[in-house]
Amino acid sequence: MKKYRLLVFLLGIIAVFYFVRTIRNYTVKQETRTIKSEHFIVSYTGIYKSEAEKVSNHLEENYSKIRENLKDVPHDLIKVFVYGSQYKFNAATGLEENTKGTSRGPNEFHFVWTNWFNSIFPDDPLKTALHEFTHCVQLNILIYKAKDSIITQDRLTFEREFDKKFGAEYPLWLWESISMFEAKEVNRLSVKYAKNKNLTLEELNKSNQIYNIGYTIIEYLTQKWGKDILPKLIASFGNIEKTLNVSTEEFEKGWIAFLEEKY
Ligand SMILES: [Zn+2]
Repeated sequence: MKKYRLLVFLLGIIAVFYFVRTIRNYTVKQETRTIKSEHFIVSYTGIYKSEAEKVSNHLEENYSKIRENLKDVPHDLIKVFVYGSQYKFNAATGLEENTKGTSRGPNEFHFVWTNWFNSIFPDDPLKTALHEFTHCVQLNILIYKAKDSIITQDRLTFEREFDKKFGAEYPLWLWESISMFEAKEVNRLSVKYAKNKNLTLEELNKSNQIYNIGYTIIEYLTQKWGKDILPKLIASFGNIEKTLNVSTEEFEKGWIAFLEEKY
């Protein structure tokens, strides 16, 4: 008898899931709508207006704090595109992997509003929004700084030269870990898992493990050297030796010790 009760219970949950999902699919609007606030224009499709309002409010609430943390320079209005499905996100951005978000220059980013109806393990979409916004802030700072070294009147030449320098010299570990830190993307289990792999910063430039452990690099860094070190580290393209006066190996050792103690 007990076995049947469990079966009925499970079938009930599945039925509720499909019922709610169907309701959502019928009531959500598929045409694109926009919400304009002081610093953002949020364009959304396939999610509720109330959800888009949450994105807009959350971005505005965190706008000043993140920009102050990283010492951002004057920043134009940012266009935000939110999609209700991975399929629509991929179609709009041309990306093929299971990426949840992407920044397009300092003034535009796109992301998927993940939930239990469109992904197996949904991320917190409000954190994804802050993560991509933080990429825009990093780019804004780097582009402003690059105007000192890339001297040209032509915008396209400047963009090409900047992309080349950024792609070759700005380390992925820094790019991702700063965004994860500002968005508070950290999960104890994922950190424990990645920690056991004993990865160096260099290895994290080529590994997806950065998405498990990135937060803790900046957590360690700001606890030990203070948060004013972050803008300096961005400006130096992640040069540990020059910014922190320790070797990269020493830094990694300290970070691992910090992980052992805290996670
Ligand atoms: Zn990222």
